[in-house]
Amino acid sequence: MMKLNELYKKIEDCQQCSLGKTRTKLVFGTGSEEAEVVFVGEAPGYYEDQKGEPFVGEAGKLLTELLEKIGIKRSEVYIANVLKCRPPGNRDPAPEEVEICKEHLLQQIEVIKPKVVCTLGNFATQVILGKKVPISRVRGTPTLTKEFFVFPLYHPAAVLHQRWMLEPLEEDFQKLREFLNSPISVPQLQKAEQLDLF
Ligand code: SF4
Repeated sequence: MMKLNELYKKIEDCQQCSLGKTRTKLVFGTGSEEAEVVFVGEAPGYYEDQKGEPFVGEAGKLLTELLEKIGIKRSEVYIANVLKCRPPGNRDPAPEEVEICKEHLLQQIEVIKPKVVCTLGNFATQVILGKKVPISRVRGTPTLTKEFFVFPLYHPAAVLHQRWMLEPLEEDFQKLREFLNSPISVPQLQKAEQLDLF
């Protein structure tokens, strides 16, 4: 089984899509290879591209605080994005870029084998679920895909602009805590099924 550092070496010079030419640094992901939770955002922004690390700005700070409130250290989770390179000017990722780069993310998840993958915001949620489902409808509910549980959450960056989202996001982090504490239960699966997300 490949390790994360081996996977990183494999893609550190990646030029599989045009973003390879415009990035400053590839943003692979950070955190524990033993993580129970993997967080997935959209793509690196300006500061992430400069530093080569995901979620380094205010949104990252909020994510760290939300984790601490449910008793989890940032170093215990793994944080990555669907895209490893910044789209110029933070434009929306192109479908072909997503198609190519999401394979890297899926390989990371395969190595880590987390209990749950928390998708942050509409973009990551729709890519991972493979459905155009609004985040407001699926947030805070674990959904079983073929390979792993997905737990969609509002994106912390969205909360920085729309403060009303903080309360539901905090509630969802509590639900995440409960989910992590509990063995996977039948009602959780049924709820996911009712949402027709399989
Ligand atoms: S965005 Fe992904 S596929 Fe495109 S160059 Fe970067 S690592 Fe490679």
